[in-house]
Amino acid sequence: MIEMKDVSKTYPNGVVAANGINVKIAKGEFVYVVGPSGAGKSTFIKMMYREEKPSKGNIIVNGINLPSIRNSKVPLFRRNIGMVFQDFKLLEKYTVYENVAFAMEVIETDPADIKPRVMEVLDLVGLKHKARMKPTELSGGEQQRVAIARSIVNDPKVVIADEPTGNLDPETSWDIMNIFEEINRRGTTLVMATHNKDIVNNIKHRVIAIEGGRIVRDEQRGEYGYEN
Ligand code: ADP
Ligand code: ADP
Repeated sequence: MIEMKDVSKTYPNGVVAANGINVKIAKGEFVYVVGPSGAGKSTFIKMMYREEKPSKGNIIVNGINLPSIRNSKVPLFRRNIGMVFQDFKLLEKYTVYENVAFAMEVIETDPADIKPRVMEVLDLVGLKHKARMKPTELSGGEQQRVAIARSIVNDPKVVIADEPTGNLDPETSWDIMNIFEEINRRGTTLVMATHNKDIVNNIKHRVIAIEGGRIVRDEQRGEYGYEN
């Protein structure tokens, strides 16, 4: 599903954020990406949805070799990827319903299919009753649930989340994790960069630890392995 071969990334300022990464992630896996700040977690994740290109090596996601596709093909590639961010990245002027529907409109879904599917995913994240509200009227946890609904509405094969609980209190973070668990149970591959030690140590999944742009640990049902 996701494969990196000898991947390195040097930013224009000379910082080496990935240094000889080799990894395979199979369909249906749930993978935590951990490591200290500045270790290269975001870079690792951004290369998976082609927000960053590697300086060297190959990255194959859903059968597509990312370094060799044109920029104009990136939106097409991302139809099969759901993305969730620490800061939600919702459209503030639009309602919850519209934020989710928009993801279906841009890929030219038959309008008749949009409303039932939007309501279905809003139901899955427990926000059907808030479809008419704007993001600013919601709590952080609710906003993240909208972002998750948006990420899965087109039924992607992979959901990639970069610190999705980074702005949320512990209790809300557990609610968000329950939704990710349900999405993964339904067969979606999940890759999540996180600093949340309690979550990693209590909801066991594969753990990939990155330090200095290298994978230093890769364990099934792993531990977080850092103090915080
Ligand atoms: P993490 O997510 O583990 O905190 P990052 O992947 O964000 O790590 O960053 C890895 C290294 O690359 C850091 O030294 C960071 O400062 C640097 N870096 C990240 N993005 C850029 C960029 N766009 N330009 C230059 N350096 C960057
Ligand atoms: P329910 O059947 O559970 O009441 P609805 O299908 O009536 O759910 O939708 C609930 C809310 O979702 C609506 O009141 C509206 O705010 C929003 N909504 C539904 N369809 C649309 C649409 N096509 N455009 C904008 N908002 C919509």
